[in-house]
Amino acid sequence: MCNWSNFQLHKPTYISICSKLTYNLIEALIFLAHFIGDVHHHQPLHFGFTGDLGGNTITVHWCHMKTNLHHVWDNIIIDSALKTFYGSDLANMIQAIQNNMTEGWSNQLSLWECCQKNQRVCLNLKIELISKELRMDSSGGLLRWSSFAFVMFVGMATVLVPGALGWSKEGHIMTCRIAQNLLGPEAAHAVEHLLPHNLKGDLSALCIWPDQIRHWHKYRWTSSLHFIDTPDKDCTFDYSRDCVKDLCVAGAIQNFTSQLLHYREGTTDRRYNLTEALLFLSHFMGDIHQPMHVGFTSDEGGNTIELHWFRHKSNLHHVWDREIILTALKDFYENDMDLLQETIEGNFTDGIWYDDVSSWKDCDDLLSCPNKYAVESINLACKWGYKGVKEGATLADDYFNSRMPIVMKRIAQGGVRLAMFLNEIFGDSEEGIASAA
Ligand code: ZN
Ligand code: ZN
Repeated sequence: MCNWSNFQLHKPTYISICSKLTYNLIEALIFLAHFIGDVHHHQPLHFGFTGDLGGNTITVHWCHMKTNLHHVWDNIIIDSALKTFYGSDLANMIQAIQNNMTEGWSNQLSLWECCQKNQRVCLNLKIELISKELRMDSSGGLLRWSSFAFVMFVGMATVLVPGALGWSKEGHIMTCRIAQNLLGPEAAHAVEHLLPHNLKGDLSALCIWPDQIRHWHKYRWTSSLHFIDTPDKDCTFDYSRDCVKDLCVAGAIQNFTSQLLHYREGTTDRRYNLTEALLFLSHFMGDIHQPMHVGFTSDEGGNTIELHWFRHKSNLHHVWDREIILTALKDFYENDMDLLQETIEGNFTDGIWYDDVSSWKDCDDLLSCPNKYAVESINLACKWGYKGVKEGATLADDYFNSRMPIVMKRIAQGGVRLAMFLNEIFGDSEEGIASAA
């Protein structure tokens, strides 16, 4: 007889197989899968100390919530990561872990799989590995994988970071997609070559990466590269005055452009990480076109000007980073970003901006053209961003309707100019735009 013991979840189709066997293979499979999980990663504390029941009796606080150390490792760390980095989408998180397996951890996989057909030895080996990793982790805080794998890990994540970060992710993604559609073959090839392979050449997937890493210790120096502070009410930009030591978005575009110019030399010079340079350039070309990223010093580009956007709280900077784009998406595009992007593209390939495109691309010297874009931004910030806005105001239809076209045009200009830069840097300028137009 087949012994189901108290297992209730069997399905009729399994019964015939089961009935021929002495062992209940379904239960065995389920138990095996579960215990292999327990013995592994998410539960080092299943091999904890006897006295505290593997951390179960150690009461701790996680943020403001009372819990115990065992539960932190059982659940809370995973839940927090899921919420913070993956928009609560488990599939996203699994994908990220898998990416690490194929990249950063790939040379360890054979070790993980090492097993000599003796179950006891195998388990012991794995337990040892776990405790080794634990020691490493507690010294450094973060899991250690190669920084390249980390780029991908974060790249796949939807990170919700509070505060002002440049065009919202929608703004950056559209800027990068518009640019990518305008690349000539050589630039397209170089971009694909520089990006992590699992992205299949999709630049937009990592365009927001510089916002995600700007607060990390290693990249903290980049956080002033996203904007320019100009003197209050002056409405001018002066590189030597406002971009001290090149630490501003115009300086950053110069810097990463000159790094990328080494690509054609086939440089093996380790000073240049050309993948990072590409991601930074692509991101900053977006930021410099967001008018409020070239704003006044005392209000931090509108960040400290709190107000209402329709019925919810926001600030002037964020209105330009994201609110206008989100409202446009919701009201006119059924939240379909592709549709909005196509509309923007339609406006310059064949619509109201068609005649302007050649002047947008006009640039004799890649290293000084960003100054022009910064001047445009501060002018727009004064004329449209700050104009008529007071702390505590409610911005609604009037503001939205008059500013939305400007936001869309800046995204278009950012995309067209990023393509122009990449085409110049990597080889075949003009071709891209010509073929698209
Ligand atoms: Zn930014
Ligand atoms: Zn911003």
